[in-house]
Amino acid sequence: MKVCSKCEEQKSLSLYPKKTGTADGLAGHCKKCNAEASKAWRTNNQNNYVEGYKKYTAKNKNNINNSAVIWRASNKEKVSANNKKWNAMNKSARCKHSTEFKHKKTNRVPPWAGDELDVLVKEEAYKKARSMTNSTGVQHEVDHIVPLRGDTVSGLHVWNNLQVITKSENAMKKNHFVSTEVFA
Ligand SMILES: [Zn+2]
Repeated sequence: MKVCSKCEEQKSLSLYPKKTGTADGLAGHCKKCNAEASKAWRTNNQNNYVEGYKKYTAKNKNNINNSAVIWRASNKEKVSANNKKWNAMNKSARCKHSTEFKHKKTNRVPPWAGDELDVLVKEEAYKKARSMTNSTGVQHEVDHIVPLRGDTVSGLHVWNNLQVITKSENAMKKNHFVSTEVFA
């Protein structure tokens, strides 16, 4: 038997919860008092949480854009499409820069490359390659119509030597320049 430190009733040891680190391995409060205390704590805590949340939302009414949250939640497909679009655009920009860098090293970028038209067409070409890849699911690449390091002729990394074709077409073509009516 043991006296509860809370309700001060004498109770059998089986009515006390176990607690490590005490002399008898039992808590000072009986199970009943323990349950009441934790219930009170939960209720109190719950109220604090609700009160805190109410205060927060009242204080930050203008900062919490509920409509945007609701819109995003109910337009998940649009959100993911927009994210994809953004990623693709970003990727094409990255892609362009790395390709430009690579071709600079091979001296296939002439000094007059980089004017407005050249930049615009190149950007569009990489964008188109990305969007073709996304919409068809087939990998598209920006290709040099006349290969930069061809067997017979070498082309330049300029706007009028670019086309968007599939990756497999590009692989088949490799560095063999197939003469067409345009260049014949
Ligand atoms: Zn008690």
